[in-house]
Amino acid sequence: MATVTLVGAGPGDVGLITKRGHEILQSADVVVYDALVNPELLTNARRDAELIYVGKRAGAHSLSQEEINAVLIERARDGKSVCRLKGGDPFVFGRGGEEALACFEAQIPFEIVPGVTSAIAAPAYAGIPVTHRETATSFAVVTGHTASDDAPPDAIPAADTLVFLMGVRALPLIVARLMERGDAPQKPVALVRWGTRGEQETVVGTLETIEDEVARAKLKAPALIVVGEVVNLREKLRWFDNRPLWGQTVVVTRARQQASSLVEGLQKLGARVVECPTIRVEPLPETPVLDAEIPLLMRHEWIVFTSTNGVAHFFRNLDELKLDARVFGPSQVAAIGPATVAALRKRGIRPDFVPQSSISENVAAGLLERGAKGRQILVIRALEGREVLEERLREGGASVTIAPVYRTLPDHSGVEAAREQIERGAVNWVTFTSSSTVKNFVAAFGDEWVAAHRHHFQVAAIGPVTAQTAIECGLEPDVVAEEASVEALAAALMR
Ligand code: SAH
Repeated sequence: MATVTLVGAGPGDVGLITKRGHEILQSADVVVYDALVNPELLTNARRDAELIYVGKRAGAHSLSQEEINAVLIERARDGKSVCRLKGGDPFVFGRGGEEALACFEAQIPFEIVPGVTSAIAAPAYAGIPVTHRETATSFAVVTGHTASDDAPPDAIPAADTLVFLMGVRALPLIVARLMERGDAPQKPVALVRWGTRGEQETVVGTLETIEDEVARAKLKAPALIVVGEVVNLREKLRWFDNRPLWGQTVVVTRARQQASSLVEGLQKLGARVVECPTIRVEPLPETPVLDAEIPLLMRHEWIVFTSTNGVAHFFRNLDELKLDARVFGPSQVAAIGPATVAALRKRGIRPDFVPQSSISENVAAGLLERGAKGRQILVIRALEGREVLEERLREGGASVTIAPVYRTLPDHSGVEAAREQIERGAVNWVTFTSSSTVKNFVAAFGDEWVAAHRHHFQVAAIGPVTAQTAIECGLEPDVVAEEASVEALAAALMR
């Protein structure tokens, strides 16, 4: 059994760690990581794992390679499983070889999990293939910083494409050496910084112009340098940094448990997402109404679900009672919108009614049209739901029972980080996916702060009710989604 595993974390995009690497990360007792590892990956470590940062970037002291080796060996000798998480691939200028040798010397069993190296991935995300038929039949990965020197090796290899890692500081020297050996001044060059991440930046030029271009763009490390004709392919092969929401920073105020579909949707479109939940969702410790109703569920003509949380917590309760979807019997099921429909379908229930537009008024109207008058209706919702649904149904002559299954509580864990970014002008959009996210946002940031900073960002609301609440709270939306769905919200931002 290996006790130390050198794992390639990939170049930054968290989707680019290997499946094997992910498994090791998830199970390790200790995770030793450095500066180029995307910190988001660490959320996959065990909650009780020891996380040890050994990178060079944060502050004055950084561990020497000997000290890092010692950490790995000590922990392994304590019987711990150690995941040594390294940016890109562990054996591509990652000093992984040295760490593996240290394990060998100490007779500690080790394993290597290769990673996606930035040398190939960062150019790829910039639209630059490192080889290309006819133009580039070879590529070489070269350090811009040898052990002895802040410089490239004296003899730079003669490959068609050259990729220099750790070379930003040595750029003038690299350019000079290539020109000296006869490379054309017009030879294309690109620098890619933070490749594959939301912050990716690319500067393109030629051997002759690249230093000026880099100075103008104020581009800094960590970046790599690509030299060769393949750089020109970026004009046509650019795909990552030209997506519709590229360059836009979007705040998501939804509770973390619910945010993932919106966060992923926005990221796929190229946005940088700042999660700023202002509420979190929690099951109710006691659900007396639901407990009493479940055995009698079939007496209700309609069971109404007003959110995906309602669905999740309803089925959790069912499961605890060792029951399943058969409790619905002949009862009909209504869902407020597409996400709630999807949550139900995942559990084997195909809703009988979904309103055109996802608001409570339309649910009530639709059920009354379908003969809800005089019938029993059970509404599964949050403790603090909107009253309008039951009011309308009761006015229409239905007999309504409300079964709260979860509640929302304030969550201020992301507020400070978002506040700082908004104040610095780094945020383009704040999105609201429900009235409660608007109210909680204002409660968390304060009325005065909102009024003073409203001009720093644009507001996007998921639907008319949320938009109305936003107007009442001084956050008049710049765009409103045409339909209450994540896709429609993203589409509104794109427009
Ligand atoms: N083992 C790593 C490389 C470590 S050397 C790998 O396989 O990717 C560190 C250098 O890699 C940095 O100085 C920079 O030149 C390059 N680098 C690493 N990640 C990068 C990224 N996301 N974008 C651009 N360059 C990166």
